Amino acid sequence: KQSLVGFVGLGNMGNHMARNLLKKGYPLVIFDISKDSVKKLQDDGAKAATTPAEVASQVNRIVTMLPASAHVQEVYTGNNGIFSAVQKGTLLIDSSTIDPSVSQEMAHLAQSKGATFIDAPVSGGVNAARDALLTFMVGGSETAYNQSKDLLSSMGKNVVHCGAVGTGQAAKICNNMLLAISMIGTSEAMNLGIKLGLEPKLLAKILNMSSGRCWSSEVYNPCPGVLDGVPSSNDYKGGFGTALMAKDLGLAQNASTVTKSPTPLGSLAHQIYRIMTNSGYADKDFSSAFKFLQDKK
Ligand code: NAD
Repeated sequence: KQSLVGFVGLGNMGNHMARNLLKKGYPLVIFDISKDSVKKLQDDGAKAATTPAEVASQVNRIVTMLPASAHVQEVYTGNNGIFSAVQKGTLLIDSSTIDPSVSQEMAHLAQSKGATFIDAPVSGGVNAARDALLTFMVGGSETAYNQSKDLLSSMGKNVVHCGAVGTGQAAKICNNMLLAISMIGTSEAMNLGIKLGLEPKLLAKILNMSSGRCWSSEVYNPCPGVLDGVPSSNDYKGGFGTALMAKDLGLAQNASTVTKSPTPLGSLAHQIYRIMTNSGYADKDFSSAFKFLQDKK
């Protein structure tokens, strides 16, 4: 019988990830500020806690899946945060996409409590989360990575050790910068092709058998009706929010400033997603870049 595992942050991604742990036989104690999210997993057999501290006091492994750096700082270091009650020897696995320097700061604080913190951000989107097909990019010691592996492989198909704490975030930030650029590019190409008289499904089919093919065109096409079961065919509901993409692009721009690496397309993609966030698209899936271009005609 597996020992109790903690899970904090049960949103678009976390709810699926936690459910997969339950399915694989890990009993869970969970917390989220959203009562609805907690309720759904309680119905599936998870035990609810009223604070992150109450989670930490009962377990020796915790997964967190929160929106951004500030939420991670709150959940770990706030009043009734994880660090106020963490047990010695606990492994803390943060799968949120945040600033690598915040991951390093959390790792430092964890160490002072006799616990270990690793960053393990994910790629794959909500359907991959549901189907346990995520890719995890792990930053931390080899030992901690090995201790996290059974949990992470219950929620994903690829678990890659990137190096020291923060390097998982580094890999994730680079991936999402490329994803944002490819999503905007796919949206531009689809919109232009349709304006030129091409049927959207046919255009997508041609792109996907040609050199423009990418994840955004093939698996997550932004044009409504091209694919079933993706946010574009559900009024851009669910999925990966535009505000979260703008956040990740901001992290990439911070990183490019710190390392003096030119990222001109990343910078433009950041500004496009920033404008979308301020134009009513914040909570829509990031593939709504297609709709944003259409609306501006
Ligand atoms: P989300 O906003 O849907 O979920 C976040 C959850 O955290 C919510 O349920 C919210 O109530 C909870 N939360 C916020 N503050 C809290 C607090 N103080 N205490 C407890 N719970 C709190 O976000 P998401 O789409 O699930 O993404 C989570 C992370 O994963 C983000 O960093 C995101 O960038 C990353 N990510 C998302 C996707 C995706 O496709 N959605 C893919 C890869 C990575």
